[in-house]
Amino acid sequence: MSVQTSAPEPGAPDRGAAVLDRLRADARRSCCVTHVERVPARAGTRAPWPAWADPVLVSRLRAAGIDAPWTHQARAAEHAHAGRSVVLATGTASGKSLGYLMPVLSVLLAEPSARAFYLAPTKALANDQLRAVRALTLTGVRAATYDGDTPGYERDWVRAHATFVLTSPDMLHQGILPSHRRWAAFLRGLRYVVVDECHGYRGVFGSHVAHVLRRLRRVCARYGATPVFILASATVSEPADAASRLTGLDVQAVEEDASPRGAMSFALYEPPLSYPWQAHAWQASSSFASSSEPSARPSSAPPAPSRPAPAVSGPLSAGPTASEAVSSGPVAPAAAESASSQPVGTPAGQVPGALTAVAAQPPEPPVHGPGGVAVRRSATAEAAGLLADLVADGVRTLVFVRSRRAAEVIAQSARRALSEVSADLAERVAAYRAGYLPEERRALEADLRSGRLLGVAATNALELGVDITGLDATVITGYPGTLASLWQQAGRAGRDGAGALAVLVARDDPLDTYLVHHPEAVFGRPVEATVLDPDNPYVLGPHLEYAAAELPLTEADLDLFGPLARPTVDDLVRRGRLRRRPAGWYWTHRHRPDVDIRGVSGQPVRIVEASTGRLLGTVDAATSHSTVHRGAVYLHQGSSYLVIELDLDAAVAFVEAATPDWTTVAREDTDIRVVESIRSRTAGDVELHLGTVEVSSQVVSYQRRQAGSGRVVGDDPLDLPARHLRTRAVWYTVTEELLVEAEIDDDAVPGAVHAAEHAAIGILPLFATCDRWDIGGVSSALHPDTSRTTVFVYDGYPGGAGFAERGFLRGGPWLRATRDVIAACECTAGCPSCVQSPKCGNGNEPLDKPAARRLLDAVLRRLDPS
Ligand SMILES: [Zn+2]
Ligand SMILES: [Zn+2]
Repeated sequence: MSVQTSAPEPGAPDRGAAVLDRLRADARRSCCVTHVERVPARAGTRAPWPAWADPVLVSRLRAAGIDAPWTHQARAAEHAHAGRSVVLATGTASGKSLGYLMPVLSVLLAEPSARAFYLAPTKALANDQLRAVRALTLTGVRAATYDGDTPGYERDWVRAHATFVLTSPDMLHQGILPSHRRWAAFLRGLRYVVVDECHGYRGVFGSHVAHVLRRLRRVCARYGATPVFILASATVSEPADAASRLTGLDVQAVEEDASPRGAMSFALYEPPLSYPWQAHAWQASSSFASSSEPSARPSSAPPAPSRPAPAVSGPLSAGPTASEAVSSGPVAPAAAESASSQPVGTPAGQVPGALTAVAAQPPEPPVHGPGGVAVRRSATAEAAGLLADLVADGVRTLVFVRSRRAAEVIAQSARRALSEVSADLAERVAAYRAGYLPEERRALEADLRSGRLLGVAATNALELGVDITGLDATVITGYPGTLASLWQQAGRAGRDGAGALAVLVARDDPLDTYLVHHPEAVFGRPVEATVLDPDNPYVLGPHLEYAAAELPLTEADLDLFGPLARPTVDDLVRRGRLRRRPAGWYWTHRHRPDVDIRGVSGQPVRIVEASTGRLLGTVDAATSHSTVHRGAVYLHQGSSYLVIELDLDAAVAFVEAATPDWTTVAREDTDIRVVESIRSRTAGDVELHLGTVEVSSQVVSYQRRQAGSGRVVGDDPLDLPARHLRTRAVWYTVTEELLVEAEIDDDAVPGAVHAAEHAAIGILPLFATCDRWDIGGVSSALHPDTSRTTVFVYDGYPGGAGFAERGFLRGGPWLRATRDVIAACECTAGCPSCVQSPKCGNGNEPLDKPAARRLLDAVLRRLDPS
């Protein structure tokens, strides 16, 4: 429980500001900091313990150092106790758990038949809450987790004896609701359902969870129970609305955070342009090497240092020959955890353990790559450097990254840098991500809490409330997609109210570049609302099937599932999925209905060491083709493996330990077919459409690239099946006349639309609160279905997720921002900050930045003349 936030002492030194000052003493780093926001400290306000709170519980909480609840905790508890569902939407470490534990544990202690569920989006969080509850040693409360790791004999015990069950929406969906009869006694006594970290249930996943909760309410009603829902959320706009959409109930909101908070220094940080020797290394590593030589070294440049040259590799490669249709997708759902192609680099230029030693190096003028493009160090390399320096300085630091691979790489790079100073320090850095086995994760969490680990590079698997208070600094590698996530991650730091540091390191992409230069977009904007749409028929249908399989559906039930439930049920009957009988609709198939609520279709692929049979971890089915194909290099806990075979039928990838001196990059072909246009807008030579499309993608080959230099040393074909995604897309088409007006000749069209498509994908998250991994795109000089030059941007989820729709509704402003990003970028030929994409299946070929700008100018003259 994070309720022990102590009040900041007046006049206490601000640790975060001090650490930032030391970082900025390094002149090279100093100019990377584009903005510092000082978030002031705040004193807390307490309320008395509620009169109804169980006295034993109160005495245990007092013994744990909690003198009295903060007012927001007391208000939420009061609502819940009075039988009103409530959402507590306050900041990280504001002690939301006490808000629900007071009513829940009090009723469990008072009434032997009372039961409660606690739902967490991750097992780690459920385990953490279990520890917190058990630490209170309340003999009247029998708490237990119930998840995929729970052995069979323990499950029987949990069902029969536990009063407080900590589980997940996934387990509810797949394990508990389908066998609700075995849970009858538990469900009969169900008084409370706690939904923790509920802001995470957004997009398609959120819509699924909304229906799981409706199914739970329906089954409970059958057993005579109407549980009260208590939701805990990060700070979001309109939390009551989102909580109501999620549960289908009226929900009260408590938003005023009365907990004390230490000061925070929040720095926006743009990685530096490379120095001569770095550019030299980059030249060697980049496919651009063939196109031109870098400009001459400035005469003031110092000799190259003896340290190994950093691999500042651009995420680029000489792509395949330009085809008519080029694509930048498809995306893997569960995007935040997808293996990305974030460039890999060693922390460079810094002398670990000596922030001041780094400062001794004078800043140098940037050199320019081909086409006059100055080369920026990758966010991953920069974060690894920051981690090493902060750990060497004794600062307990958590680095958030977007991909599993980046977590491994950053931990590895920081360890390598630190090992030159002290083997002990190097041992105190680790990676943390999903895909690790439960015991590995638990060991890492314990080491983090105890302080044995000083630095951790983590995916957002650690973002959620896992109790790791005691950190001084967070480094957020790339904008995490939403402001809610950004604040959630930043809020992990801060101990003893002594001040914390948060650093957002921009990746080389349009959105991040925009944000670090527009602090008002980060700090001056209200946090976004959580978007979910329980009426998505693609989501609704399968849950109605599940519901019918659990208990026959009645007319009265349909209200619970929303206005589209009736037509959807009729459609399911027509398709033979449900059968109408006098008593209601029945599921008549022998097998269960099938839907994965994480939006990831297919079984996760297990990674097994062939020689020992040891299970190393898993990757989701959607990303398996590009990450664990035969020949792929797979990283796990700092060790590298080579994939010998990917058996798709058995969902297993067999690997062997190996240390090849190359990395692998998969190449993917993508096609798009228009199924139907649902809405459209015509403005002269431009048409804007929203509709249904079918996207086919196939991983066709992979490149081997020399580690360090990035030089392509092999290109091997793969024989993997194509995959299909039916989803929503927004697309615009232009006429030949418009292309003539924009002075784009036939040869330039593919590069123009491809570049315009990449930038549009990069900037859509500003309008749709998704992230670029949630969406994909395809551009075509002449698309067979539209008979025109066309740019598509599509949702990376079956049935769509609402992002493309936002793009359609905000078409003018979205394409204007796209055009502005391209126009404002200083590069001439295109770079990752404007038109290059880290996930281009075509190796960023062809791209024509100037033509893309002329194209968008001409489009906007029709679509958004302002
Ligand atoms: Zn592309
Ligand atoms: Zn650029």
